Amino acid sequence: MGASYEAILASIETLEIVDTHEHLTGLEADRSRETDVLQEYLTHYFNSDLRSAGLSAAALRRVMDHTQPLMERWEIVEPYWEMARHTGYGRALDITVQALYGLDGIRRETVVALNEAFLQTLSSPDHYHRVLKESSHIAISLLDAEGPYDPAYFRPVVRLDRFIWPRDLETVLGIEEECGATIRTLDDWLAACEATLLRARERGAVAIKNSDAYVRTLRFDPIPLREAEAGIEAIRAVRHMPDWEARPVNVDKAFQDAMFHYILGLAEKHRIPVQVHTGILEGSGNLLTNSDPQLLNPLFIQYPGVTFDIFHIGYPYQHVLSALAKMFPNVYLDMCWAHIISPTASVNALAEWIDSVPVNKISAFGGDYGFVDAVYGHQWLARRNVAKALAIKVEEGVFDVARACEIARLLFVENPARLFGLEGLA
Ligand SMILES: [Zn+2]
Repeated sequence: MGASYEAILASIETLEIVDTHEHLTGLEADRSRETDVLQEYLTHYFNSDLRSAGLSAAALRRVMDHTQPLMERWEIVEPYWEMARHTGYGRALDITVQALYGLDGIRRETVVALNEAFLQTLSSPDHYHRVLKESSHIAISLLDAEGPYDPAYFRPVVRLDRFIWPRDLETVLGIEEECGATIRTLDDWLAACEATLLRARERGAVAIKNSDAYVRTLRFDPIPLREAEAGIEAIRAVRHMPDWEARPVNVDKAFQDAMFHYILGLAEKHRIPVQVHTGILEGSGNLLTNSDPQLLNPLFIQYPGVTFDIFHIGYPYQHVLSALAKMFPNVYLDMCWAHIISPTASVNALAEWIDSVPVNKISAFGGDYGFVDAVYGHQWLARRNVAKALAIKVEEGVFDVARACEIARLLFVENPARLFGLEGLA
């Protein structure tokens, strides 16, 4: 990359950025102490690449068991690790340990020293500060996790997925406890859903998050609410079962569809944006077509008053998403998770989107990690990917370096700050 890239990256490096999506524990004190570096770093993402490379589920379980000797576990994982090392997930981890621990990536020669340094962070009171503020220069992260949170780092989002599909009676009983009411009718259920949203807003929630693509299609048909009564019957049907048995609640698709439409109505009424998972599904094996953002198209028409923040560049549907964001004023593009799914796809998607979509529609970064260290590696890649895409446009003569730096600021800071009403940042 040439001089334009270097100049744009230098400017991007100075930005205190907004992180649109994380799964960290809201309080640093709640980080698990019963772990080690292999267990923690394989919590998600890179473990899927290891499985994809051929590591069996049973072998992965052993590799992730911190009670077993570290080098024995490294021996098992090493052949797969070397094959997966160059993916975005693999690179994010190597970049992380180079910057945070001064070690040359995660390999046979470094893993013992890395583990010792990592274990020390578990008793350090300021590891979040060191990783998220000092090293990653993140102003604030949107937090997709239950429980208390530290406002120095996070603003929460609220998940209402359990109102769309309460998997079991325990979930329903939990909702009843939170709301202080018994669910007997559909109206009770709807009231509990709205009350949950309002309580979340009071504790600082800035968006609703939907992850339904993991368990069902994103095609939500316009089912009248009255047809959702059968779902309440499904809840009623398991109440008599003994509490030592599994008590699954089997609501039908019509109930789920009607409930998501109800939730979108709440989002419109209470003016809160909706973040939707689209594209690649984390883990080993799922139905990719369930996550096609095109399935949301009818909702964009029916809810013009709802702001949709569409996740993960819809990978590999980034071209579909480009058209949807171009067609709809209420559809926004969110690059969270994308820079480590595929750095190249992220650069190319952004270069394409700058051609097709106004630059106020794009948020550049969300770490999407469940453990804090790798957020560093992710934002490192994100800053470079965005610099590359903007440098391509400078080389094409679309704008100059100064404008590229302004656009970078929009993507990393001002767009997400405005979208989620983050005061003091927009
Ligand atoms: Zn996520």
